[in-house]
Parts: sequence; structure tokens; C-alpha cells
Amino acid sequence: MTAKTFYLETFGCQMNAHDSEKVVGTLLARGYTQVETPEAAELVLYNTCSIRDKAEQKVFHRLQQFKRAGKGKVFGVLGCVAQQEGEKIFDKAPHVSLVAGSASYTKLPEMLVQLEAGARRVTGLSLDTEETFDTPFTRRDNPHRAYITIIEGCDKSCAYCVVPFTRGPERSRTSASVLAESRQLAELGYTEIQLLGQNVNSYRDPSPAGWDFATLLTRVGEIQGIRRVRFTTSHPRDFGKSIVDAIDENPRLCNHVHLPVQSGSDRMLGAMQRLYTRDQYMRRIEWLKNSPRNISITTDIIVGFPGETEADFLQTLDLLDQVQYDSLFSFKYSSRPNTAALAMGDHIPEEEKTRRLTILQERQRAIQIQRNSETIGAVQEVHVEGRNPSLGQWIGRTSQNRTLNFTCADENGESLIGKYLPVRVTRAGPNSLAGESAANML
Ligand code: SAM
Ligand code: SF4
Repeated sequence: MTAKTFYLETFGCQMNAHDSEKVVGTLLARGYTQVETPEAAELVLYNTCSIRDKAEQKVFHRLQQFKRAGKGKVFGVLGCVAQQEGEKIFDKAPHVSLVAGSASYTKLPEMLVQLEAGARRVTGLSLDTEETFDTPFTRRDNPHRAYITIIEGCDKSCAYCVVPFTRGPERSRTSASVLAESRQLAELGYTEIQLLGQNVNSYRDPSPAGWDFATLLTRVGEIQGIRRVRFTTSHPRDFGKSIVDAIDENPRLCNHVHLPVQSGSDRMLGAMQRLYTRDQYMRRIEWLKNSPRNISITTDIIVGFPGETEADFLQTLDLLDQVQYDSLFSFKYSSRPNTAALAMGDHIPEEEKTRRLTILQERQRAIQIQRNSETIGAVQEVHVEGRNPSLGQWIGRTSQNRTLNFTCADENGESLIGKYLPVRVTRAGPNSLAGESAANML
């Protein structure tokens, strides 16, 4: 094969989006050219997600479209579905030539050599690795905000979750390589860094320095030129007070923490094998609420986990009232291969899951309207991310991770994207704020 054009579509989380940036960089370094449509490409890659059944089905739907129309093209399935389904993908979609999970991306150059030599079934499926996918070739999609992976894989075993099976065991990068990448990004003009991992709190520097996550976070926040540092995701069990202390001490560390709780019921937390109780979770929430930084708090919730009763669900609603989250991601439980929850009895009917999800989202919507309206009148610094020409507005993000769309009277036709500006909040909806530039007022 001499495929020199490629198309890559990414599904799923920020980890996948960032993996794709590294895959794209690796391909460009080998002389490939990226194209915008699968039709124009000789090599078509899908970086897949299998966190829920719906996400998984998407890739098979895509592949189906090209079963006949894809003659002459080379197809590859990367990421979590690749790892989960393995060589079965070749049976389901015989026009696929490459199946590789994220733990094998370090071997991508060798796999490409095999594909270029005409190999029809190339795989990278071993999870037995201590390596992380570090590459000098990362091709970042955003010129101002950059992702940096600090830890790959997951050593927890939440009863519903497929990630430990698709991304393998935890592997932390050395603090030296994370700092070197951060400094390099600052030199290139990046001002915002987001540290990534399935559980960033269990970061442990493998070099003799042995830094924990709070130390790494502090040090990244000290790099000259970096104005904002974010991180995701935090597992409550490993979320220590030292992280809140680090945020308190350095305003460059954003005042936002995503702390997935999954359920407000201790019975469900136990069944989910989350390794904390509601009380222990609430202690962490208190640390955050007591911070002088006014830290925004967001979470993930699963409704309809096997055995979830109405009483359990009501406890989750009660938790929302108690915490007053600034935002949340909510999901209906989806059975995943290999997970402990598969064997559990009392699966909740789909309509009931939908009912609970709707109630949960309505309750949270009311909380967000209230939380967001509390910001009206305040001046907040935004990092400008884009422009909405039809509304004549700039799209900004606050340190608390709220979207704040704003107008600017004296912009003089110049692009504000990438700038940091003070904006006065004038209106609030459930999902975003609106305001006007307050630049002349400071
Ligand atoms: N590592 C992160 C953590 O521990 O919170 C989250 C990883 S996962 C990509 C993101 C979210 O997907 C989880 O917090 C959970 O709410 C949701 N999720 C994971 N497996 C799920 C499943 N089988 N069904 C429904 N939602 C699921
Ligand atoms: Fe999945 Fe739990 Fe690991 Fe998060 S901590 S990736 S939910 S197993």
C-alpha cells in the first residue's frame, strides 16, 4: 500500500481527542497528508469510544457505510472499541486492516510500515506495557489551549466501567517529561494547559523525584507564560486536600474541579465499587466549598445502575440539592463487556432509566439557572475561544469553566481569539452566561 492521504475521525473523551492529536502528528511525520473527508482519503482511521453501547455502535455504523464504497482504501480501528473487540473486528468488517488499542500507539510507526507493505491484518492489542505514548510529533488542534497526558490507564475497577479493560493498567509519565512538554508549549505561545488522565489524582512520578499530583500541578502552574492550568478527571477516593491547597495558592490553577460522584446512595456506591461513601465524598466537597477561590464543582452521574431503587435515586437528587453543582454529565447505565455489573441482577428497564435521567436533568437545570444567575454583575476574566458571527459575540471561557459569550464595543475588527479579557456578566441561562467586555474598566 502507498496510502499517503489519511482521514481520522475521533469519538469520545478528551483522552481520545488528545490521542488523536498524537496519532495525526505521527502520520504527518511519516509523510502522510490529512484530508477532510473519508472519500478523499486512502487511509481511513476511526479512534473509537466504548464507554457506552451507543458510542460503540457508531464505529460499526461508519464501517458499514464503506463496506462496498471503500474499495481501494485501507481502514483502521483505533482506541477502546479496537481493544475491546480485538480481532473480532476483522470478522465483522473484513475491509478493516488495522486494529490497535491506545496502549499500542507507541508501535504505530511499525504498524504503518506493515500496512504500507500491504499487510491485510495488522494488530496492536497488548495491554502488557509500562510505556506511555510520548511523541515529539503531537499535532495540536487548538493554538492556545493544549492537552498533556500525565497518566494513562486505570487501576480502579468500577463495576460498570470498561476503561481498565480498554486502556490497561495505570502508567504515569515522569515529571521531567511533563514539565519539558509544558515549557515547550509555553514557548510556542500556548497559555492554557489541561492535564489529562482517567484518574489524575493517582499520578505518581516514576522518577526518583516521586512527585504526587498536587506537586506536579503546582510546578506546571509556575511555568512562565502559562496563565491557566486545568485537570481532569479526579477520582474522589484519591482526591487529597493538597490539591485544594495548591489551587488556593496559585490563581493560575483554574478554580474548577470535576469530581465524578456517580450516585448519592451509599448502597449504589458500594455496588459500583467506587471505594468511597457519600460522607467521604462530602468531606471533599467541603474542602472545595471552604476555599477562598470560589471553586466551581462539576460531576458525572449514572442513573439506573442494576438494583437502583427509587429510594437510591432520590438520594442522588438530594445530593444535587446539597452540593449545588455548577454543571454535570448524566448517563443512563449501559452494560459493558467484561465488567462486574454484567453479572448483577435487577437490571432497570430502559423507560425507567429515561424517566430518572429526565428528572435528574430537570433538577440540575434549575440549580444551574440559580448558580449562573448569581454571577450577574460580576466581572470575570475569560479566555477567548471563538466567535459567533451571527450573534456578533465572542465566545469566552471563565476560569470556573463556564462559557461566557460577550460583545466588545471597541474591538476594531481585530480578532480577540486567544486573549484574556475582563467581561461583565449581564445575563445567565442554564448552560452559559452572556456579557460585555469590561476591558476599559480595569
Ligand atoms: N475516570 C473517570 C472517573 O472515574 O470518573 C471517568 C471515566 S468515564 C470516560 C466518564 C464517565 O462515563 C464516568 O464518570 C461515568 O459517569 C460514565 N460511564 C462510564 N461507564 C459507564 C457505563 N457503563 N454506563 C453509563 N455511564 C458510564
Ligand atoms: Fe472507569 Fe472507575 Fe477507572 Fe474512572 S476510575 S476510568 S470510572 S474504572
